[in-house]
Amino acid sequence: MTNSLSENPAHDIHDIIDVQTTDCCIVGGGPAGAVLALLLARQGIPVMLLEAHKDFDRDFRGDTIHPSVMEIMAELGLSDRLLALPHSKIRQLRIQTAEDSVTLADFSHLKTNYPYITMLPQVKFLEFITQEAQKYPSFQLVMGANVQELIMQDGVVAGVRYRGGGGWHEIRAKLTVGADGRHSKLRQLGGFESVETSPPMDVLWFRLPRQPEDAEGGMGRIAKGHILVMLDRGEEWQIAYVIPKGGYQQLRTAGLEELKKSVVEVVPELGARISNLHDWSQVAFLSVESSRVKRWYRPGLLLIGDAAHVMSPVGGVGINYAIQDAVIAANALAKPLKNQNLQLKDLAKVQNQRELPTRIIQAFQTFIQKQIFARILTSDQTFQPPAFLRLPILRDFPARLIGLGVFPVHVEV
Ligand SMILES: Cc1cc2nc3c(=O)[nH]c(=O)nc-3n(C[C@H](O)[C@H](O)[C@H](O)COP(=O)(O)OP(=O)(O)OC[C@H]3O[C@@H](n4cnc5c(N)ncnc54)[C@H](O)[C@@H]3O)c2cc1C
Repeated sequence: MTNSLSENPAHDIHDIIDVQTTDCCIVGGGPAGAVLALLLARQGIPVMLLEAHKDFDRDFRGDTIHPSVMEIMAELGLSDRLLALPHSKIRQLRIQTAEDSVTLADFSHLKTNYPYITMLPQVKFLEFITQEAQKYPSFQLVMGANVQELIMQDGVVAGVRYRGGGGWHEIRAKLTVGADGRHSKLRQLGGFESVETSPPMDVLWFRLPRQPEDAEGGMGRIAKGHILVMLDRGEEWQIAYVIPKGGYQQLRTAGLEELKKSVVEVVPELGARISNLHDWSQVAFLSVESSRVKRWYRPGLLLIGDAAHVMSPVGGVGINYAIQDAVIAANALAKPLKNQNLQLKDLAKVQNQRELPTRIIQAFQTFIQKQIFARILTSDQTFQPPAFLRLPILRDFPARLIGLGVFPVHVEV
């Protein structure tokens, strides 16, 4: 681990508008941070959740609530209310070619009360979780709080400084948690070292209208050299158009009309609606990454979720693995935080329990990327699904790994 921490803040200390103290300061109100804040607040532990944005309605970052998360919600007594929000369900992930169709994951056989992926806008999920947390007096949420610095005391992280509401604010905390996503500021400030792999693809995201006769849920389509995934967002399809790594500039040079043509070649039913795409500003580019930090903690600071491990989009697992991190972190840390005797070994417990599942799912994603995605993207032949996908023994394996995670995770606090 490199050490880029400084005991001296970069700005004038007199700029600080206010100083607050809490037991646990969580940076980032995404799925990992919001769920951890709720779990700690339920235990009466003073917790502050700092979110840089002013609301939860941001760029699309996935709407998938996997069976493992629904099980966690059920343990918290929240599943029925969550499922009362407008949503759709995906029971199978299928790859469809012009001639063939093969199931990549079938959730309907999983041993769970929720054998499907619940498609719920992430903004609704985060609002739901934070509203639930607001019921506990020890919870505090600060929106528009952009964390920029760590506070250091004798080599231990003792809180953060953030900009927001017209100036600098200081939060002093016994524990700081970096749940600030794939571009984590805390990962950078804490000098954490990452192990990176390079997935062979990038993704373009855009939306097209759904029609009442369209199938519910989601689907994946494959044609020569192209992969397209369509996710149901109520009145719209959220579309992921997968391109070879580094192919974005070439596509831009070829022009939007070429992109539209290629989309319709893969999914002819979109022909009448593709005219809704009239400008590159409607197309978001995602550079696909996959990495994990070597060590998830240092004195006073723990990383969870994407801050600790950036996931490839294969299988859409980032949200459920981030939430499972939050549950394990709450299980390991609630008691020592309550008893005021938090030690480094408590933070280590989180990595000990979560590193192996993370490594396994990332290895699975790498395998699928190489065996399926790379082959399709680099070939002008019709894709023949590999024989291993049809082995009955493999029917439940990907669904289990994607839907439930490597090990079951339960709320113990
Ligand atoms: C385009 C796209 C599509 C995706 N689709 C899916 C999908 O279908 N299914 C799936 O499971 N996963 C998907 N993912 C991955 C998924 O979004 C992440 O794995 C998941 O959100 C990780 O949760 P998190 O809480 O760790 O981080 P995030 O959800 O990234 O949350 C981090 C939060 O921290 C805040 N933040 C960042 N910096 C600061 C700061 N300095 N101060 C304060 N706050 C800060 C951010 O605003 C953000 O709200 C997708 C990702 C992308 C980019």
